[in-house]
Amino acid sequence: MPALASPAHASYDAVIVGGGHNGLVAAAYLARAGRTVLVLERLGHTGGAAVSTRPFAGVDARLSRYSYLVSLLPRKIVDELGLRFAVRKRTVSSYTPAERGGRATGLLVGGGADRTRESFAALTGGDAEYAAWQEFYATTLRVAERVFPTLTEPLPERAELRARIDDEAAWRMLFEEPIGAAIEERFADDLVRGVVLTDALIGTFADAHDPSLLQNRCFLYHVVGGGTGDWDVPVGGMGALTDALADAARAAGAEIVTGHEAT
Ligand SMILES: Cc1cc2nc3c(=O)[nH]c(=O)nc-3n(C[C@H](O)[C@H](O)[C@H](O)COP(=O)(O)OP(=O)(O)OC[C@H]3O[C@@H](n4cnc5c(N)ncnc54)[C@H](O)[C@@H]3O)c2cc1C
Repeated sequence: MPALASPAHASYDAVIVGGGHNGLVAAAYLARAGRTVLVLERLGHTGGAAVSTRPFAGVDARLSRYSYLVSLLPRKIVDELGLRFAVRKRTVSSYTPAERGGRATGLLVGGGADRTRESFAALTGGDAEYAAWQEFYATTLRVAERVFPTLTEPLPERAELRARIDDEAAWRMLFEEPIGAAIEERFADDLVRGVVLTDALIGTFADAHDPSLLQNRCFLYHVVGGGTGDWDVPVGGMGALTDALADAARAAGAEIVTGHEAT
């Protein structure tokens, strides 16, 4: 590591490797707790995978470059660190194009309950899949309400979390059995199954029936955020959020040095 130009301290209580959002949150809390903190970031800027860019020449629009939706940031952290940033609700969650009987079609999730129901009916030829969808996500919503607050509490024991969820069928489906089983049991349409499974498989190399339950963990992270499972769009892109985090860390006294790789 190159020597720091002018370190504020001869030594630090905490040196954080990497100025992504997790490093910045840790830096802000440690500095607020009175520790001397140094963040070393390899790149020339903080933010990690949560950064913004201005992709259109001549248009002053800051958009997310990689990570782009906020769900898992607890309100408690926003309030405690005094983060000044805003999110907007999405009207459409997803649209999945498909072909049925040589005809181009697709599945719309969002745009209002009526449009979603109509889209399910047009794709599947009935209301059963949409009814199953509503029931499935009513269950995940109840789990979200109970699980999300634990993300900022001491990690609960397994039995404690199970009691807190207080729904044996939901517990089995999400925490005990590969989620592929529940999805195949509840949904008949392969495209609908695929849309539900996206939240379980994306970014993993797991499959729906992986005995490791890695896919269940991935699924849970996608449905518990904010206690609702909503994914909101950060105004100014993810970089607006990580800039606010870096500001909070600096305001609390943390030193952030970019262009310094820890080896
Ligand atoms: C394409 C993509 C889309 C995603 N979409 C979303 C989304 O919409 N919503 C969401 O919540 N999550 C999303 N994620 C996941 C999310 O981006 C990550 O969970 C998050 O960025 C992890 O934050 P972090 O601070 O732990 O690590 P990172 O963001 O990876 O930051 C790590 C930082 O450490 C630095 N670093 C690494 N090694 C060193 C070293 N030796 N010395 C100094 N610095 C070092 C890196 O340069 C980097 O800046 C997405 C991820 C990807 C890749």
